[in-house]
Amino acid sequence: MSCATLAKGLLDLDVARARMIAAAEPVRGEELVALERAVGRVLARDVTARLDMPGVDNSAMDGYALRLAELSDAGLPVVLRVPAGAGVTSLPEGGCARIFTGAPVPEGADCVVPQERVRLDEAGCMHVAGEAKPGANIRRRGEEYREGDTLLTAGWTLDSAALALLASQGIAEVPVLPRLKVALISTGDELIEPGATFAPGLVYNSNRVMLQALLEQADCEVLDLGIIADDPDALREAFATARDGADLVVCTGGVSVGEEDHVRPVLDELGGLWFHGVAMKPGKPFAFGYLDDGSPEGVPLLGLPGNPVASLVGWHLLARPFVQGCQGRTVGPLQQYRVRAGFSRRGSPGRRELLRVTLDWQGGHPVALLAGGQGSHMLHAASQAHGYLMMAADTDVEEGREYPYLPAGQFG
Ligand code: AMP
Ligand code: MG
Repeated sequence: MSCATLAKGLLDLDVARARMIAAAEPVRGEELVALERAVGRVLARDVTARLDMPGVDNSAMDGYALRLAELSDAGLPVVLRVPAGAGVTSLPEGGCARIFTGAPVPEGADCVVPQERVRLDEAGCMHVAGEAKPGANIRRRGEEYREGDTLLTAGWTLDSAALALLASQGIAEVPVLPRLKVALISTGDELIEPGATFAPGLVYNSNRVMLQALLEQADCEVLDLGIIADDPDALREAFATARDGADLVVCTGGVSVGEEDHVRPVLDELGGLWFHGVAMKPGKPFAFGYLDDGSPEGVPLLGLPGNPVASLVGWHLLARPFVQGCQGRTVGPLQQYRVRAGFSRRGSPGRRELLRVTLDWQGGHPVALLAGGQGSHMLHAASQAHGYLMMAADTDVEEGREYPYLPAGQFG
C-alpha cells in the first residue's frame, strides 16, 4: 500500500472512518475449526445448506395427527404412536396418531391437533374440540430453506446463533480466516503498570489493559510489547519488532505534536503517515499510517491518543472498523437513533463531540444524561456510559431536543 499525502488540518470523522474501512485489507489464509472453537471467528467462505430445513414434515406440537376428512362425531381411534426420533411412518386409514413435537408427521396425515384441544373417550377414540385446519401445526419440509441455499456469507462473524445454524445442518467444522495478530504498544515515560508502587507524577497504564480487552473481544491475538519510553530510538525498535511480528500495530500516547511525542516522526521515518488528526472530541490526535516491511504492503499502524477516553473513542469509531475490515468482517454502518437530551451544554468548536451518556427512561422514552465528567482523561464516565450522544461541531446541546445516540452495545 502506498502512502498518500497528509491531509491538511483535521479530517472529518466520517471521512476518516470511510478511509480506514476502504484501506483495510482482509487477512489471507483459511483454517478449518471445530464449531466448539469457532465462536467469534470470521467465516472464510459462504456456507450453503446440505439439507432441507426441516428435513421432513414434522409436528410443531405434542398432539394428534389425523386426516381432516376422516374427522367425525364418532372420533378417531388412536392407532399409531410417533415419538421424536421415529422414522417416517404412514397413517392407517380411519385412525389417528399420537405424535410429539419434532416427530415426523405420518404420511397421509394433513393436520396436527394440540393435545390441549383433544378429548379421549372410554373407547380410546380421539375427539377434537373446536375447528381443525388443514396443515395446522405441521412444519413443512424445506419451509425455512432448501438444500443449496446460502445460509451464511464469507465475512460473517460466527456468533451463537450462526454456530447453532451450522450445527443444525450437521456441519462439525467450519472454514475461518486466521486470527489477526496485533502488536500493542503503550508509550510514555510516566507510565507504570497496575500493581507497581505509585508516586506522584506517575500514571498507571490503563490503556494497555483496555486495548488488550478490546482486541481480545474482537478476537485478535495480542502481542503486547509493554511500555515504551518517550524516546525515538526506543520507539523505532518497538515499531520494528511490532512490524516483524504482527499484522497490525496499535499504539497509544505520544501521538500529539509536543516534543515528547515521537510516534508521528518515527512513523514517517519507518513508513508513512496517511493522516493525523480527526475533528472529533475526544480522540483528535489519531494517526494512521503504515510501517514499511519491504513488501509491497506495509504493516498498518494505528496511533491512538494517550488520554484513556480519547483512546477508547478512537478505538470504537476508527480503529475497530479498520481491525474488523482486516479480519475480513463485514463492517456495518454506525447504529444510531435520536434521543432527547436531559441536559444543556455548550458545543465543541470545530470538532464533533461524543458525549458519554446514560439513558434514563422517562415516561417510556429514553432521555440522555451525562454519565459524568467529560474530560478525555475521565474514565469514570466512560465506565458508566450506555453510549455516545454525537454532537455536530459548534452545536450546543439544548435540553429537550433530540440528537443522534450511538448505543455502546454495537462496539462490544
Ligand atoms: P500523550 O498522548 O502521550 O501526550 O498523553 C496524553 C495523556 O494521556 C497524558 O496525561 C498521559 O499521561 C496519559 N496517558 C498516556 N498513555 C496512557 C496510558 N497508557 N494509560 C493511561 N494514561 C495515559
Ligand atoms: Mg506521552
